[in-house]
Amino acid sequence: MRIHLKTLGCRLNEAELESWRRDFVGLGHQLTGNPEQAELLVVNTCAVTEEAVRKSRKLLNRANRANPNARLVVSGCYASLDPSATAQVEGVDLVIGNQDKERLVEIVDRELDLNVMPENATEPAAAGLLARSRQRAFIKVQDGCRYRCTFCIVTQARGEERSRPQLEIIDEINQLHDDGIQEVVLTGVHIGGYGSDRDSDLSSLIRQILAGTDIPRLRIGSVEPWDLPESFWDLFTDPRLMPHLHLPLQSGSNSVLRRMARRCKTDEYALLVELARSKVEDLNITTDIIVGFPGETNEEWQQTLDYVQRIGFGHLHIFAYSPRSGTKAAQLTDPVSRDVKRIRSDVLHQLGEVMKRQTLETYVGRTLPVLVEGSGENGWGGYTPNYLRVAIDAPADAPLENQIIDIRIKRLADSGDRLAGEWKQP
Ligand code: SF4
Repeated sequence: MRIHLKTLGCRLNEAELESWRRDFVGLGHQLTGNPEQAELLVVNTCAVTEEAVRKSRKLLNRANRANPNARLVVSGCYASLDPSATAQVEGVDLVIGNQDKERLVEIVDRELDLNVMPENATEPAAAGLLARSRQRAFIKVQDGCRYRCTFCIVTQARGEERSRPQLEIIDEINQLHDDGIQEVVLTGVHIGGYGSDRDSDLSSLIRQILAGTDIPRLRIGSVEPWDLPESFWDLFTDPRLMPHLHLPLQSGSNSVLRRMARRCKTDEYALLVELARSKVEDLNITTDIIVGFPGETNEEWQQTLDYVQRIGFGHLHIFAYSPRSGTKAAQLTDPVSRDVKRIRSDVLHQLGEVMKRQTLETYVGRTLPVLVEGSGENGWGGYTPNYLRVAIDAPADAPLENQIIDIRIKRLADSGDRLAGEWKQP
């Protein structure tokens, strides 16, 4: 979704705008400087003087006139002091008070069903799952997909599968490593299909990368849960291959999966997860779920909820279904109403939070190697091999950035969505 952000007032308002900008981009949205091209307008208002109130209202009216089709979200001091007057301004869809500002992106995402449908189910960056950073780089290893999941447009836009030569990929990783990158993520439209046009496969590529580079961390971002040979799991005996896999499920109901034309039904998925967990220690499995696919009945929805709970995931990426013209699914009748999608999405989010917490709790008391990504406004932080976020208690000038350091995990951070650990000076 294209988003235009606008603020009035103080430096704090500007800083908030910057942080929303980062969070929206992290979720896979795009920013635009032109309100007329935006699908969502977010205005951070001010109320320090009568004049500021007047200007805030004017800004809202102008935003609505510039683009009446875009959804309009308002926050800031004016919106907090007079939420009902703000809500009555023409075109305003959502008012978020200052007390909820820090969670604005999350609330907007949920309330307006903003989560973009996975254009490309195997592109972790697009799904906002793995963030690019100064320590982590994405390597595109292939393009195109031979499958035709009915909600997916990318496969039509990108055409047949094409894989990059292994040597070229290895050279790129070595170059990035020389430049200080510690972790690379293999990515593509359908990376499980890597090598189909080169008489090779994903396992062989991983083996060659591990042999031909010294990159400390190699990550497979997201791979469709099929065509993975049993030997694939043996690759993880090399500790440089990170024990985290994003295996898009999309639904826990076989009838919905059939309408989506997915290749993997629930029994096969469960077997795959069981095998993977038995072979790979500390494997963190995360997934994508689409809620409100056309015709999704209460029973099918309940099946998904039960199944997700039964399998257990470290993180859920939840998308409210939205039709993409040109896809088969866009021609399906019996759409699920927006309200039902929102309720289902909320319930699944809550389950996702509980499961994440349960996953994190199992690591309390352990010492884990963390790739430290720097000291931001929330202090030092980084990721474990299986992609659990860790907040690190350490002095601001500690020499931790871009280092892989053993951190003793003490507890869950207050936010509940990450671990909290302590750095001990050697
Ligand atoms: S496997 Fe399905 S969802 Fe994934 S890229 Fe191919 S068509 Fe799209």
